[in-house]
Amino acid sequence: MVLMNSRSSTLPVLIVGAGPVGLTLACELARRDVPFRLIERAASPALSSRAKALQPRSLEILHDLGIAEQLMATGTTELPYRKFAGNRMIGETPRRVFPREDTRYPKTLLLPQWQVEEALRTKLAELGGTVEWGTELTDFTATDHGVTCYLQTPHGTEEIACTYLVACDGGKSTTRKKLGITFAGETHQEEQLWVGDVELEGLAPDAWYNWLSPKFGLAFALFPFKGTNTWQVQAVMPPDANGQTPVPTLESFNALFRERTQMEGVTFTKSTWQSVYRVNIRRAERYRVGNAFLAGDVAHAHSIAGGMGMNTGIQDAYNLGWKLAAVLRGEADASLLDTYAEERIPIADWLLKTTSERQQAMMGAAVAGAGSMDKIATKETTQLDLNYRDRRLSAHGAATATGLQAGDRAPDVRLADGTWLSDQLRGSQWKLLALSATTTAVDSKLKIVPANDPALAQAYGASDGFVLIRPDGHIALIAPTFDAVPEYLARLAA
Ligand SMILES: Cc1cc2nc3c(=O)[nH]c(=O)nc-3n(C[C@H](O)[C@H](O)[C@H](O)COP(=O)(O)OP(=O)(O)OC[C@H]3O[C@@H](n4cnc5c(N)ncnc54)[C@H](O)[C@@H]3O)c2cc1C
Repeated sequence: MVLMNSRSSTLPVLIVGAGPVGLTLACELARRDVPFRLIERAASPALSSRAKALQPRSLEILHDLGIAEQLMATGTTELPYRKFAGNRMIGETPRRVFPREDTRYPKTLLLPQWQVEEALRTKLAELGGTVEWGTELTDFTATDHGVTCYLQTPHGTEEIACTYLVACDGGKSTTRKKLGITFAGETHQEEQLWVGDVELEGLAPDAWYNWLSPKFGLAFALFPFKGTNTWQVQAVMPPDANGQTPVPTLESFNALFRERTQMEGVTFTKSTWQSVYRVNIRRAERYRVGNAFLAGDVAHAHSIAGGMGMNTGIQDAYNLGWKLAAVLRGEADASLLDTYAEERIPIADWLLKTTSERQQAMMGAAVAGAGSMDKIATKETTQLDLNYRDRRLSAHGAATATGLQAGDRAPDVRLADGTWLSDQLRGSQWKLLALSATTTAVDSKLKIVPANDPALAQAYGASDGFVLIRPDGHIALIAPTFDAVPEYLARLAA
């Protein structure tokens, strides 16, 4: 077992921040035996709910890591959306689903962020890694060979030489500022929410409750978390005349609820998290300076409408992890790392646009008194159709009969024997779907998946040839003959 918390001369990777993004990246490196350290400024895990939606694409990633099923058992996919005007219920809609056969997880999973982080930490521990709590990156300098980092730890200060630094230190990142990367965009001062977690008496935890009003739009919302006593609060809270918005308390949550809902018999008895959320719409101008990279909220900020911030960050880490490992293990040329920003920046631009549209839809629908999730949770927010077409790792060629192209996410398929293709695609290697032929010319990094199954041929729109799938589940190459596969892999190593 590789020493994950190595203090040897040059550490391959320092990950800063143990939120969902840093934890995902740590798992990706750990399962490829790449030494790293994962440091976290906080003294202990955060227990606030924050993100409450795991989107289908993230669930597929967490399936690859082996933790999706336990999370599915923890959260729920079925909570209806119940609407009120004052104390009058004005409608209820079931949670929307976008039926499709190319994934085992078509539904968004609802659960608090701390439960996702907890599952990732448990997986990381199984893989031999740990979080170093109470340890902060205080400064760093670039060198010819990497980055020298200065840490404040519970035991004093420490200087470490790293080959790569990955900043997963969230939206208020000091690392991004120190790197001189502009976080261009807007802050919508007027679009503020009170958010928090409460325990309460007087409501059944069988729906996501939303009180809508012409004045505030989303006047108050309460979201119950399955298997806990906790509900997430969200309430639009414009700043006062001085531009200030006070941080809520248990008392002010109670007072605001009474004022805006006029509901009798509901009392918040405890509050474990209170915050003011401001809508920022920003994207880091670059995702990399020298050997330092950005991933997650440090690279993109946007409205929480649509529930995609944590999800996109997890997907950033999943894109970067295998590339860092391949370069550090000498299996790929360092230029592979340039493809991280090339592939993920267009996704961030899509994210900012999509979430801004949903923010407006949410506010507009609420003002009209007919607030609905229909324009917020959509087919796009499943994130299953995001692709890397037209990027340099996607070998250009003809699309298959179903329109599948290099760069697309490799569709999952329920096979004739009832199992899912994704069970064979799990693991850190590259995979090769041999659609009709068998081949013995195997690269040790390549897992051959025999794929002469009619359901697979139908889903992929091809019954012969080869589909080369990257470690992050995107198609690299669709080729009629095997020769193209070693040629592609050789180009990567060059
Ligand atoms: C009310 C609310 C609802 C949300 N709903 C959703 C949703 O439904 N779906 C969704 O996908 N997203 C949602 N989000 C967004 C989601 O919470 C974030 O996108 C997610 O937390 C980003 O993860 P991260 O790992 O990039 O950053 P963070 O979770 O912010 O983690 C960064 C970590 O870095 C640490 N750190 C900072 N500086 C240093 C340093 N110098 N040294 C060491 N450690 C450091 C911090 O302590 C922190 O633990 C919501 C957010 C809020 C507030």
